[in-house]
Amino acid sequence: MPIDAATLVPWFDTHARDLPWRDPDCSAWGVLVSEIMLQQTPVSRVEPVWHEWLRRWPRPSDLAAAPQAEVLRAWGKLGYPRRALRLHSTAEAIAREHNDVVPADVDTLLALPGIGTYTARAVAAFGYGKATPVVDTNVRRVIARAVHGAGDAGPAAARDLDDAAALLPREESRAARFSAALMELGALVCTARDPRCAECPLSEACAWVAAGKPAYDGPAKPTQRFAGTDRQVRGLLLDVLRETTEPVPKTRLDQVWSQAGQRDACLDSLLTDGLVEQTADGRFALPGEH
Ligand code: SF4
Repeated sequence: MPIDAATLVPWFDTHARDLPWRDPDCSAWGVLVSEIMLQQTPVSRVEPVWHEWLRRWPRPSDLAAAPQAEVLRAWGKLGYPRRALRLHSTAEAIAREHNDVVPADVDTLLALPGIGTYTARAVAAFGYGKATPVVDTNVRRVIARAVHGAGDAGPAAARDLDDAAALLPREESRAARFSAALMELGALVCTARDPRCAECPLSEACAWVAAGKPAYDGPAKPTQRFAGTDRQVRGLLLDVLRETTEPVPKTRLDQVWSQAGQRDACLDSLLTDGLVEQTADGRFALPGEH
């Protein structure tokens, strides 16, 4: 078995980062908030915002009662702010339909707005200790290397979930810890660019090491740049509105980016996404703030 729970879980016990959402006292709601925030943002940026959110909104109903503008403001600079509004909708549904308790099973979680396959499984596993495979980029990479002997994971595929399920320990009590350990190994040791095999608990059984570390020869992954992208421009426009509680005129927004075509297209997309609203007199504000 190239990934043995008896090897991996003790490594996790010793080396795992001490993250607040891993605290045994952390609620499933805290886990859910962390999983949405961590989807596209690194741990170091998420941690302070997560603490602030859980302090302000310790239960789903607390977040559901908050105005959308406040939620977007509190999202700060985590990026991809549609996640904040999705989380708000998720909180409303949990408060309204589930008695303010985050559901524990994957299918019920999947039926909530804003919850995808990864998040549903992560919440079931890390919030409730359920034995369900949890597959993110890190897990896919570790499995690709340790099990399949490939230099990296190719594009996401249906077999990823089966691969992870086949590795899960049978005992429910260990399965969730195993999933967290696999993820942590990918984040800390079996990293995309610089796998530190000499420090890896799996190195003796790793198929990629045994094969002589062949180079990855699958399809190239798209590289993500930020400077000059619509994502950057949208962020700059939202920054203006987060810093005020009054609607602002278009001329104020025009100052943040010189290319008018891109700037206006980004403003349109923010309006379409419901992240910005226009007042009757043509000014702009965060949702509900006019
Ligand atoms: S031995 Fe190297 S490639 Fe294999 S799982 Fe560990 S870090 Fe990844």
